[in-house]
Amino acid sequence: MTAAATEPTPEVSLLKQYIAGKWVDGSTTREIVSTNPADTRQVVAKLKGCDQADAVRAVDAAEAAFASWRAAPAPARGRIIAKAAAIARERKEELARLMTREQGKILSEALGEMEKGINLMEWFAGEGMRMGGMTQPSELPRNLLYTLRQPLGVVSIITPWNFPWAIPVWKISPALVAGNCVVFKPASLVPALAVEIVKIFEAAGLPPGVLNLVLGAGSAMGDILVSEPRIKAVSFTGSNEIGKRVHTLGGARGIKVTCEMGGKNPAVVWGDADLALALGGVMKGAFGSTGQRCTATSRLILDERIADEFLKMLLAEVKKIKVGDGMDQTVGMGPAVDESQLKTDLEYIAIGKSEGAKLLCGGRRLEDADLRHGCFVEPTIFDGVTPRMRLWREEIFGPVLAVTRAKTFEEALALANDCEFGLTCAIYTQDLTLAMRFSQDAEAGMVHVNSPTIGGEAQVPFGGIKGSGVGEREMSKEGLHFFTELKTVFLDYTGAARSSSIY
Ligand code: NAD
Repeated sequence: MTAAATEPTPEVSLLKQYIAGKWVDGSTTREIVSTNPADTRQVVAKLKGCDQADAVRAVDAAEAAFASWRAAPAPARGRIIAKAAAIARERKEELARLMTREQGKILSEALGEMEKGINLMEWFAGEGMRMGGMTQPSELPRNLLYTLRQPLGVVSIITPWNFPWAIPVWKISPALVAGNCVVFKPASLVPALAVEIVKIFEAAGLPPGVLNLVLGAGSAMGDILVSEPRIKAVSFTGSNEIGKRVHTLGGARGIKVTCEMGGKNPAVVWGDADLALALGGVMKGAFGSTGQRCTATSRLILDERIADEFLKMLLAEVKKIKVGDGMDQTVGMGPAVDESQLKTDLEYIAIGKSEGAKLLCGGRRLEDADLRHGCFVEPTIFDGVTPRMRLWREEIFGPVLAVTRAKTFEEALALANDCEFGLTCAIYTQDLTLAMRFSQDAEAGMVHVNSPTIGGEAQVPFGGIKGSGVGEREMSKEGLHFFTELKTVFLDYTGAARSSSIY
């Protein structure tokens, strides 16, 4: 376990808000400072945060831009997204490095996230060519029934810190291609990357006011981005606590709201599984991105016939993880995103111990040498976790894996479903019948068979059920449809012949 930053510290970026096509200071006196979680002495960016009045100015700008953006042909809107995707591809390496400095994930993961986001932009750009509705035959002669998909107006996009590139672009791209104008509020831990996202759309030729950026604390302006009367929809990703608040406020106004929230995702490793494959998947799911994925594997259910053998393999593998600065290419796991998340991780580790779970490995903050300047925690595994324990039920959002054992497939399935969340899940088995039964009965929005709980693709819906999500799914056609209003047109072209019609 090692590693300090391996390159000279770049200069601190002084960031601004983007409202009506202009880069302006936020009105609050409160300074927001983004630091490198691998070494919190390094400041990445600074800015003056927005207040509610700034947020309202962003809504004014979006409202003013809406009529002409709505009137632009959808393929032309799509071409701007395509251009933005091309610019992002050119800047991929540079932005991945910024992501690692600002958010902490290791460089290979940051590059993977960049690629995922670019794929999503490319996919939604193409949707500009396919913004059609449908036609249907009418019961009436010389009548045509068809539907149109139309934009909603001004929409708010509120995003978390854990995927600071992919989540904003998978929301902004469909919102724009559908013809909406956007007020974008990223998490205040990752402002530098958010500014680069907006710069990419600006460079691609997006007209002023169509995309506006407000940076600052959710507590300072979050509610206004849901309750402002001109906001027609909110697309939110983040914690359950804030998601429920956003959903309640938006619901009271009767606007469209989609909230993608937390997860506590189970992986089942059954007795007949390819254990080497399962090992790779569980490692990636539990400790990739320092466990800070909504889709992270945080519960592991082992067929008791292979449980001891699999845990032995898992512990040997975890020992190989080098924890440190994600810029160092030999590092396998980066820091927690900040001191507060690190504290949460350590608190849950203490809770696990006090609840009587058996700590198999990890559990400590890492403070050797340069690591003491960062927010590093050991990859941690608890065995003997029961469904009544908080370790089993609550999202930690860190590299902490809760393990239990099952005697029968039915028991494993029940354990997987015994949770408030329902984002994603995985089963490792070679038995087609078990794989099919699991896919059918697992209570989750996404099921993986012989692959880790993580990941998504532009072409298919992404999202959860139960406590993990409410509203429409993201990505794919569903992700686009959320940002549209569906209109049905009844077109009667019988004209003068109508009076003679027997119908
Ligand atoms: P968070 O809920 O603290 O913040 C999310 C966003 O909401 C931030 O931009 C924040 O500033 C803003 N916000 C805060 N208060 C607000 C308010 N009153 N009104 C409106 N917005 C407000 O979440 P986080 O800590 O940034 O992210 C981690 C969480 O996100 C985890 O729970 C994780 O599971 C979840 N997540 C879910 C998915 C998914 O697709 N299901 C994906 C990624 C992350």
